[in-house]
Amino acid sequence: MSTSRTGEDYINSLRDGRAVYINGERLDNHVDHPAFRNAIRTVAGLYDYQAANPETMSFRSPGNGREVSFAWQIPTTPELLKKRAEGHLAVARQTGGWLGRSPDHVPSALVGMMAGIEVLEEYDSKRAAALKAYYEWARDNDVAMTYTIVNPQGDRSKDVGEQGNKYHSLCVIDEDAEGITVRGAKMLGTSATLAQECFVGVQNPLKPGDEDYALSFAIPMGAKGVRTLSRRSYEAAASSEFDYPLATRFDENDALVFFDDVKVPWERVFIYKRPDLVNSLFHKTAAEALMNLQSQARLTVKLQFLLGVARRVTETTGVINFPPIQDILGKLAAQAMAVEGAFRSLANDPTRRGDVYVPKASRVYSATSIGQELYPLFVNEIRGLVGGGVIMLPSSVEDFANPEMSAMIEATQRSGATTPLGRVKLMKLAWDALGSEFGSRHTQYEMFYSGPPFVQHMRCFGNYDWNASTSMVDGILDSIQLPAKA
Ligand SMILES: Cc1cc2nc3c(=O)[nH]c(=O)nc-3n(C[C@H](O)[C@H](O)[C@H](O)COP(=O)(O)OP(=O)(O)OC[C@H]3O[C@@H](n4cnc5c(N)ncnc54)[C@H](O)[C@@H]3O)c2cc1C
Repeated sequence: MSTSRTGEDYINSLRDGRAVYINGERLDNHVDHPAFRNAIRTVAGLYDYQAANPETMSFRSPGNGREVSFAWQIPTTPELLKKRAEGHLAVARQTGGWLGRSPDHVPSALVGMMAGIEVLEEYDSKRAAALKAYYEWARDNDVAMTYTIVNPQGDRSKDVGEQGNKYHSLCVIDEDAEGITVRGAKMLGTSATLAQECFVGVQNPLKPGDEDYALSFAIPMGAKGVRTLSRRSYEAAASSEFDYPLATRFDENDALVFFDDVKVPWERVFIYKRPDLVNSLFHKTAAEALMNLQSQARLTVKLQFLLGVARRVTETTGVINFPPIQDILGKLAAQAMAVEGAFRSLANDPTRRGDVYVPKASRVYSATSIGQELYPLFVNEIRGLVGGGVIMLPSSVEDFANPEMSAMIEATQRSGATTPLGRVKLMKLAWDALGSEFGSRHTQYEMFYSGPPFVQHMRCFGNYDWNASTSMVDGILDSIQLPAKA
């Protein structure tokens, strides 16, 4: 029998007395609240899927012998990196790619940090040991994690400490023999309400003088003083599963996380007061490489899902056989296949970092950057294909219960490819994917989850093999001589 954790075990782990705020109130029980309950059950389904598929979805932890997610396994062979990539695809396929922070994302960052632990060891062997011990504990317990690694937006033209309030961004206010006390906010934790633990860091550039803000640590979401301020819940706002088939299942939530004098024990502090080091934890280790392997698997699946929407809609509206429509569908298919190709190159053509096989950094940043730019264009092309069919729809599922309205729906929602009911269901799903508040949030997510686009471009600039390009140009230039003087 598998010793993997089950969905029920995961759900119970979230009943930790945490402070979640939404719509003007602090909740006593967010796990069963209409704002979060379905998304939590969707993640629970992923744990049940893992337990049912141990060969591909888990491995035996060297720490306690328990079956835990493949995402905690350090890829010490090329085969393990491939297994990991296939695992990410399998997770993403369970949700059509609509969960960014499925439970295989943040563990990937921690595994990447283990692959580059020397970055931390050079700074302080105690802090490095704390991170390693935390990784092992989280792995052995298959902990569900989020991360908050960006400071609140505020005024980006000003430094972190000059936002008019010292505690606008999270900073340290005290330390003693047991640990540190922190106060202030982190911008967003996607899935913060669905996670047990939060990894905290800083991706924003810091400078000397910003020491108090240069922190990385991990904290239980139920720890005293941790406050989760949820954005509007699309799940709660959705009138029914029929009307919003995606928002009702996959609204993974995003929340500002506020730290109200939270005590963090030293064994959970990984970087302390080092502005020069804190964002290296992600890009100088292999954290970004491995967490973005998951992101690219998810994007691959999500684009495939959207292609399914585009195909079904164009069949339903009868335009599928028009050459200009096939031209667009073919172009979208080419783009989706290129994204899949980029993802597969991350898994199949790795680089070695010590004993660990990880995706090449230049390819990771390239794939992430292309994804940021492509996603809104891809969605827009499909919006161009669906026309007003996603708006010409019954107001809600309740219209079907009224015989007069149901007869009009029957008479007007015609299609050569499906029934009126089938057409309404499809168009509702298409709108949720492309244009509803849930769908629009996904466009914003793809554009920004990995940081603003210029940061990815700068990483590509820094990691591209410019010499391979310039040497060809220089070769030609060097071969050209001025004609000999007569
Ligand atoms: C849906 C969603 C989910 C998210 N989930 C998470 C999460 O789970 N964990 C987490 O830590 N973060 C998360 N984030 C936050 C994300 O990391 C940030 O949105 C991202 O880093 C960009 O920061 P920002 O939103 O403050 O935008 P900004 O950095 O303010 O950028 C806004 C615009 O200003 C431009 N700009 C900003 N600074 C400069 C500059 N110096 N020079 C030139 N142009 C500039 C940018 O290019 C961009 O066009 C999420 C964001 C979204 C939208």
